[in-house]
Amino acid sequence: MTSKRPVVLVFGGTDPTGGAGISADIGALSSLGCHCAPVITAVTAQDTSEVKEFAAVPTDVVIAQARAILEDMPVAAIKTGMLVDTEIISAVTAICLDYPQIPVIVDPVLNASDGTSLSNDDLGDAYRSLLLPHALLVTPNKPEVQELATQGDTLDACVAELLSLGSDMVLLTGTHDNTVDVVNRLYQANGDCKVFNTKRLPHDYHGSGCTLASACAAGLAQGIHPFTAIEHALDYTRKTLEHGYRLGMGQYLPDRFFWSDASKS
Ligand code: PLP
Repeated sequence: MTSKRPVVLVFGGTDPTGGAGISADIGALSSLGCHCAPVITAVTAQDTSEVKEFAAVPTDVVIAQARAILEDMPVAAIKTGMLVDTEIISAVTAICLDYPQIPVIVDPVLNASDGTSLSNDDLGDAYRSLLLPHALLVTPNKPEVQELATQGDTLDACVAELLSLGSDMVLLTGTHDNTVDVVNRLYQANGDCKVFNTKRLPHDYHGSGCTLASACAAGLAQGIHPFTAIEHALDYTRKTLEHGYRLGMGQYLPDRFFWSDASKS
């Protein structure tokens, strides 16, 4: 029987903690009723405290993985995470250009949550000139938007610069601020800005950004109106963090199946 489950093709790196990267994407997308087609761009060695090392997958192997899926399955959305180097960003952009009808959600992963760089090159130019112009939605945090923009003095100006490149929407997450609540802002190319406040939680989490971007991709793949899809994704991500659990000696991991009894046992 043919399934109506929307397929989301994800470009991202592995994380052996199971907290971030591709495992976050598979968990969030599956939990929200989508099928994740994981295209591996990099393999990382890390625990819940720090990244120890990583290696990029050769670009031709990244391309081969993605082409195999795009020729086989009806992909409803493309989501990008850790893209490692300029060559991979360029290859991913070429693939997106071949399928212009598929919405692209870009989580511009530059650093891990411990601050370690997850890229081999300075990726700002490649994101700006290649991938961001094709994004329906970009989901940077504060350090990422400051690294991606070349001229903005304020966060608003940084976001305006990213939108001017061609993305339809930027969801700027507020976890890295010192505000009492986490203030997330959705900026649209038409100048509208909507603020979503969520309660700040007491712990540090591993994979919250990946979870949020994948949850946005799930709603967009399901054809939900972008505004509602993003609102649902923020709400879902907050719940995964509220139910987060600690298995190692560092950060908490989101429970992307918090709604399932099996996740409690
Ligand atoms: N992708 C991979 C493979 C990672 O290892 C990480 C962080 O360690 C990220 C993405 C970004 O994670 P977060 O969602 O915590 O920003």
